[in-house]
Amino acid sequence: MTKWLLVSVLSVVMMVAGCADDTSEEGKTDPEEASSKETEVSEKEDPDLSQAKDRNVSEDGSMIEVEDPERTDVIVNKQRKLPDGYEPPDLTVPEVPFYFDEFHPKKQMRKEAAKALETLFEAAEEEGLRPVAASGYRSYDRQKTIYENSVAENGEEYANRYSAKPGTSEHQTGLAMDITSAEMSFRLKQSFIETEEGKWLEENAHRFGFVIRYPEGKTDITGYAYEPWHLRYIGKELAEEVYEQEETLEAFFGLYPTNQE
Ligand SMILES: [Zn+2]
Repeated sequence: MTKWLLVSVLSVVMMVAGCADDTSEEGKTDPEEASSKETEVSEKEDPDLSQAKDRNVSEDGSMIEVEDPERTDVIVNKQRKLPDGYEPPDLTVPEVPFYFDEFHPKKQMRKEAAKALETLFEAAEEEGLRPVAASGYRSYDRQKTIYENSVAENGEEYANRYSAKPGTSEHQTGLAMDITSAEMSFRLKQSFIETEEGKWLEENAHRFGFVIRYPEGKTDITGYAYEPWHLRYIGKELAEEVYEQEETLEAFFGLYPTNQE
């Protein structure tokens, strides 16, 4: 009973954050202005926006199921869920430092993302940084357990407010990884951005095909508070475009009206 209660309470606290896993989320942090970014002028093809229409939420605002969950540019959020029980096809454990040694499913990522993460870690380590991986793939069943524990403990209304519904975690795509460091005591907190590892990721993750998925000040679009630790693989070309435009993935793919329109 005690353990059940503890798990449920932790789940509620943690599910406020998108990554919410084994670590708690810190609510407040200093505002971090976007760092100065070099504007690289180069020939780039327009991103594939052809799917924007069918990627939109349904007209009545209810949740829709994404049609092609294996796309590396799939958008999953609180309105766009993965098919029940979806499992990515090629999960593997990236060869990067984790904060724990034993195997756990959450060490996994899709193969392409895992390779990109390894390259990113090598580059960071060459600069004397020591990022540490914390949590990647999260199965549908695991999300379901967390959510149902919350419902059992707190009621559905409360659970819906504070817990992610099964299928809505980007971690289920196998394309996300939470990063931390020894300096952070391996926790996931917004103060990560004040560390050298956090700053480096913000400025360099795109070079390896990752975006900071939940930027600061975009909660109304992403549905999540700022998570400087949550990296989402989307491919190098797209990541660089998203970085240059300083957009959320929702706005980038036309799933959310931007202020410029
Ligand atoms: Zn995360």
